Amino acid sequence: MTLPEFHAQIKDCQKCALAASRTQVVFGDGNPHAEIMFVGEAPGYHEDRQGKPFVGAAGKLLDQLLGEIGVPRTDVYIANVIKCRPPDNRNPRAEEVESCKPYLLTQIEMIHPKVICTLGNFSTQLLLGTKVGITKVRGQPFEKGTYFVIPMLHPAAALHRDSLLAAVKEDFQNLRKFLDSGVQPTSQAPTDQLSLF
Ligand code: URA
Repeated sequence: MTLPEFHAQIKDCQKCALAASRTQVVFGDGNPHAEIMFVGEAPGYHEDRQGKPFVGAAGKLLDQLLGEIGVPRTDVYIANVIKCRPPDNRNPRAEEVESCKPYLLTQIEMIHPKVICTLGNFSTQLLLGTKVGITKVRGQPFEKGTYFVIPMLHPAAALHRDSLLAAVKEDFQNLRKFLDSGVQPTSQAPTDQLSLF
């Protein structure tokens, strides 16, 4: 199955109540063979309208941050923990995250990235499988089978609090250093990854 085929398969998803209020499923976007994947939280207003992740204000900042570390957006793949916009941009609910989780895990399996940057608490907790807060773990690479998870502050945090911009930028600089270090995940087989979940 290809990513577009998988998208077509889930575009009418009715697994949770968000199906009733969304405009469309926001599947994900980018290079299907990306070595770096970014996982945000949930689509917002603009993402829901355009059907693409990170196209609103947080997306503009993400583009800028990627530019500052010399990573073209077209090289990476971007997805979210949940694929449908929560009303009024409220936080995703546990049952929504659970319903949507297999979609993200399948995307990861298909893309087979080496590094997954989790943006904010929701994606970090989901992919690390712990309830740890982002401020405790940001910047540290966690090896998870065939990929590293690198938790980072969500760029939207800096849109809500100017004082967080330096920390958000620091996380991207740390990502640059990690990429430059050339460290590779020990395990290469996609099947190892499946056994984690
Ligand atoms: N846009 C997205 O697609 N995801 C987020 O987490 C925030 C904004």
